[in-house]
Amino acid sequence: MIPKTPLEDWIAAKISVPAPLTRELLQEYQLKKIRQTLALVKSKSAFYRRQLRGIDPERITDFESFAKLPFTTHLDLRHNSRLFVCSGLAEIERIVTLQSSGTTGRPKRIYFTRVDQELTIDFFDYGMRSLVTAADRVMILLPCRPQGSVGDLLQKGLRRLQAVPLPYGPVFDVQDAIAFAVRNGATALVGIPTHVLAMARRPGGEALRGQIKNVLLSTDQVPQAICRVLEEKWDCRVFNHYGMTEMGLGGGVQCAALRGYHLREADLYVEIIDPETGEPLPDGQSGEIVFTTLTRTGMPLIRYRTGDLSRFLTDKCPCGTVLRSLELVKNRIGEAVRIENETFSLADLDEKLFALEGVLDFLAEIRETKTGKELHIGIKSLETSCLSTNSVLEALLAVPALKKIYPEKIKILVSINEQEITTSRGTAKRIIVRQGGQPSA
Ligand SMILES: [Zn+2]
Repeated sequence: MIPKTPLEDWIAAKISVPAPLTRELLQEYQLKKIRQTLALVKSKSAFYRRQLRGIDPERITDFESFAKLPFTTHLDLRHNSRLFVCSGLAEIERIVTLQSSGTTGRPKRIYFTRVDQELTIDFFDYGMRSLVTAADRVMILLPCRPQGSVGDLLQKGLRRLQAVPLPYGPVFDVQDAIAFAVRNGATALVGIPTHVLAMARRPGGEALRGQIKNVLLSTDQVPQAICRVLEEKWDCRVFNHYGMTEMGLGGGVQCAALRGYHLREADLYVEIIDPETGEPLPDGQSGEIVFTTLTRTGMPLIRYRTGDLSRFLTDKCPCGTVLRSLELVKNRIGEAVRIENETFSLADLDEKLFALEGVLDFLAEIRETKTGKELHIGIKSLETSCLSTNSVLEALLAVPALKKIYPEKIKILVSINEQEITTSRGTAKRIIVRQGGQPSA
């Protein structure tokens, strides 16, 4: 029997409806909050005052009419984030600056009030109940400083559910992180996939088997091969979280059924749209994730295009919730590499390469040369691994697209390195690098 996601009762309480929650009650609430948010941004945000000119919030009485409103893009935010702010600057508690993933481009700035931060803490409190209880000691391998950072808000959420947070930060010294987890009796970990993978695969990591019961992976698209390695090495459950700063850090989390993410539907209205036409897509079809904030006060966002691809699962989650399930995000728009008629993405490489014993991380780069295209794979491996370039090549050729175009249309060059190739990367997004340093997304 799989317990129902704790998010459902939390949402029912948040929107003050008697249990059981129904989709009709939730949708009625979402439409009401959409109208309130539209009225707020039209009166307070210089950007939306212009963007939504002529729109009467009171006439948005169904999701179809809402779906006719224009999108907000990351370019709008980069152009001038300040135009989105709806509260007085004195009420802003934290501003997060997100640098462009490209070599050019202005940063995005996301503004949060104390009320906004409280919403995130509340989500972390209930979202974490999917995997931890008051008996747990939770090591946080995410940035825990400054105040208002994701790790700081997570600590506050964990304290509310009476669990003990163990703030640590991103992993730069794996042995130190393992020793910290052992010394402090961590029973759960929250971190970035490759950081937690290194703790499981490095010598000494086996000490955590039997001690770590649950892991939550966040920040990037989560390679499922890493989840399988952690489950096997530590005999633990591995949960995935989806979120981004623009969403208010947290977005959704898997329940114990470990299928799609259940979303914080009282705070976010999520749509899937056709990235080409902008039309909303029915449940089950894949497209771009678009969200609208329902409760944020500092910088509400209307129909914000995330660039992430997913779909709503159509079958009911085994946990029995009325909340929707968003399929795990694997790809971003424009990220896939297309050669002839074949495409592959970082997620395809992830699933094959992380499954190889001894792989800790890798860099992938596409280079254009006089003699054609080259895929360079730099593997960071354990010193003790007997990984060969041949076994890596063999794993890569299990990606159907690569199998079809290799070796005529693409050369594959593999190097295996025991040095730290990624420590400087910290929490940055993983991507397939295009020649010249231009990222693919
Ligand atoms: Zn569920």
